[in-house]
Amino acid sequence: MDFTPLLSHTDRCFIAGAWVPPAVGDRLTLINPSNGDALCDIARGQGADIDAAVEAARTALAGDWGKFTAAERGRVLAKIGQLVLEHADELARLEALDVGKPLTQAKADALALARYMEFYGGAADKVMGDTIPYLDGYTVYTLREPHGVTGHIVPWNYPMQIIGRSVGAALAMGNAAVLKPAEEACLTALAFAELANRAGLPSGALNVVPGLGEEAGAALSAHAGVDHISFTGSVPVGKLIQRAAADNIVPVTLELGGKSPQVVFGDADLEAALPFLVNAGIQNAGQTCSASSRILVQKDRYDDVVAAMAGRYAALRTGPALDDLDVGPLVSQAQKSIVEGFLKQAEGLETAAKGQIIDSAPAGGAYVAPHLFAGVSSGHKLAQDEIFGPVQVVIPFDDEDHAVEIANGTDYGLVASCWTRDGGRQMRMARKLRAGQVFLNNYGAGGGVELPFGGRGLSGHGREKGFEALYGFSVLKTVAALHG
Ligand code: NAP
Ligand code: MG
Repeated sequence: MDFTPLLSHTDRCFIAGAWVPPAVGDRLTLINPSNGDALCDIARGQGADIDAAVEAARTALAGDWGKFTAAERGRVLAKIGQLVLEHADELARLEALDVGKPLTQAKADALALARYMEFYGGAADKVMGDTIPYLDGYTVYTLREPHGVTGHIVPWNYPMQIIGRSVGAALAMGNAAVLKPAEEACLTALAFAELANRAGLPSGALNVVPGLGEEAGAALSAHAGVDHISFTGSVPVGKLIQRAAADNIVPVTLELGGKSPQVVFGDADLEAALPFLVNAGIQNAGQTCSASSRILVQKDRYDDVVAAMAGRYAALRTGPALDDLDVGPLVSQAQKSIVEGFLKQAEGLETAAKGQIIDSAPAGGAYVAPHLFAGVSSGHKLAQDEIFGPVQVVIPFDDEDHAVEIANGTDYGLVASCWTRDGGRQMRMARKLRAGQVFLNNYGAGGGVELPFGGRGLSGHGREKGFEALYGFSVLKTVAALHG
């Protein structure tokens, strides 16, 4: 398939400002999950490629990139954002083909990537230190300096958004980045490198090494030349990353999974809530770390909510990404098997509703129809484990305390929402819900790049997005001058 003019080399790494073949020379084949056909080859980067990328990043820090003023960094990021906007439709198409994301949703990711570049471009020269009142004769102040080389390991579900938030913030603070995209979602990462290059980002400031997690990913996380690691992905791999970082004593940001609840009280505005209750579960076919896979409903409105959600589910259509329906395929046959495994464990549960797969969907696609299960007990596997597919469970509760107990009753803590017209309850719930983000009478707040994001518990630690990320992607230095 021809991806030019945006992407002329899908099977190379981007290192030191050039498209280079992987050192060992192996390739991996990308599959289009909408039909199961081979899409193109990508590089199977390995340790030697990671070594070259880290070396290139180090050289950039000592060279042009390291000499950029904060304002110059901001300007080049803004330029990248502008190019991303200009190519948003092409980026959306690449993502749709690569990961099966319906076009409208893929376009939203491209626009978010542009926004990250604008936001972090604008913020680059606005991160300031403090002057600290101290002993007589001293002047004390703080500086925010880059870590150095930052490693970014990104999953396949929202490549453009996650690259935007982590690489964007890292570059804004003057780090040089090495990016390892997921083997199932490389094309927009490569296109992003191409656009950054065209925008004038100095060579080596951003390097991209596609490849397998256990090869390129493991080599990056263990590399002694990497000063900070940002990882977004699963809990088991997150543990490996944190262990690898421990050996080098470097900081990590872990953005892991979730089992995020929406809590609907009896006094909620159901009409306003309904689109959020369903969309937050089926967006990107449920392959969203902050998917709302648990809907908790107070018993007096329980039947109403289940009936209303079931009505929406019945209208959901699943099909190829380029058809741009409500739901696309899952990213791969492997992911489909995982989700089907969960559905097998749903035996005995009440299936409140199912969406449909359109008749013309190719047989080789990784399709799973959305499923809504009602009357699920909080301890059930489907109410505890992250499914990463278009599956939601509805759980009844009695009162506020009971709602908090269930909402906080998983090992995760990424996001949560509460639907109620009672202002006092909104404030209490916002404090009691264990999550990095809490939404009152909405869910996701439009995904704003400005809003700090991250987890508690198994959902990980550290914050990305917003201004807060800039602190994570920099090191504080205290300077104390004794001048008498
Ligand atoms: P994953 O298997 O953990 O993969 C994430 C990334 O890590 C990929 O680039 C992967 O490469 C790489 N990787 C795999 N094994 C590795 C290793 N041994 N060493 C270093 N890197 C390794 O997760 P996924 O299946 O892509 O994504 C699904 C998970 O990510 C879900 O649990 C989801 O909740 C979570 N997620 C969280 C957020 C958030 O912001 N909190 C956002 C999106 C996704 P390969 O894929 O090439 O093997
Ligand atoms: Mg793919």
